[in-house]
Amino acid sequence: MEDCIFCKIIKGEITSNIVYQDEDFVIFPDINPQAPIHYLAVPKKHFPLLKEMDEADKAALGRILYKISTLESDLGLENGYRVLINQKGEQGNDAGQVVMHLHIHIMGGGKL
Ligand code: 5GP
Ligand code: ZN
Repeated sequence: MEDCIFCKIIKGEITSNIVYQDEDFVIFPDINPQAPIHYLAVPKKHFPLLKEMDEADKAALGRILYKISTLESDLGLENGYRVLINQKGEQGNDAGQVVMHLHIHIMGGGKL
């Protein structure tokens, strides 16, 4: 999608240090880390919200969550980690989702 920062990263129009990618997802470091280690796992397909997922998206999300668990030591997360998805609501944005392209925060590297 035009003007979407994560679509631009996925297309290589904005540089990021992609540490993992497959047919469905990319993982790269968050530009403004909220933990000693903070990655974002981002579906290559642009959609803003969990409620917009089709069956294939749901299956891909399950696969990436499992994949993240297998990357634990590669990502330096052997002491545990947090996965988090912020979601804007129809009437407000209590979670503070800023980038309207679904993404999973992966945080660790110290006590959270
Ligand atoms: P949200 O609040 O939408 O869940 O989080 C968006 C995240 O994207 C924030 O943690 C922010 O630091 C990160 N972010 C925003 N723009 C960029 C960027 O251009 N590159 C990277 N690597 N992360 C970004
Ligand atoms: Zn996008």
